[in-house]
Amino acid sequence: MSNLTLPPVAKSLYYMCKKCEGERFHRVLAHKTSTSAKIECEICKSVKTYTLPKTGSDAPSARRLSGAAGTAAAKKAASSARSHTGNYEIYNSNALGLEATPYSIKGNFKESQKLNHVKFGIGFVIKAYSDKVDVIFSDEVRTLMHNRP
Ligand SMILES: [Zn+2]
Repeated sequence: MSNLTLPPVAKSLYYMCKKCEGERFHRVLAHKTSTSAKIECEICKSVKTYTLPKTGSDAPSARRLSGAAGTAAAKKAASSARSHTGNYEIYNSNALGLEATPYSIKGNFKESQKLNHVKFGIGFVIKAYSDKVDVIFSDEVRTLMHNRP
């Protein structure tokens, strides 16, 4: 509900009277609805309907904002919809300034580690298993062996 209320019945309010062609005191005769009342001009006794000005606060409160928008950004690196190049760029920018470990089958690589493969170039470990690692290179994801004696 709006905070505007009708003046009590029998109370006067200053209102434009078309018949008198000016603002006149009008006596409230009765409330018609919660926002309109029957009023009578104190001068010419003409009866008219007084309606509370619309404020827009009575409009249905349909708009409700959900605060779920922020969480999507946190998953950007894991998004499967993202292109390979985009994923590689994310790893690349996250590992900016990090030293690339030369890849070796005897090495032991951990997730997110930056490595340098003789043939494939710079790559980033996206998943590490006990004997192999999934590594994203600029062109594609490759599974490499590691932890071998
Ligand atoms: Zn009047």
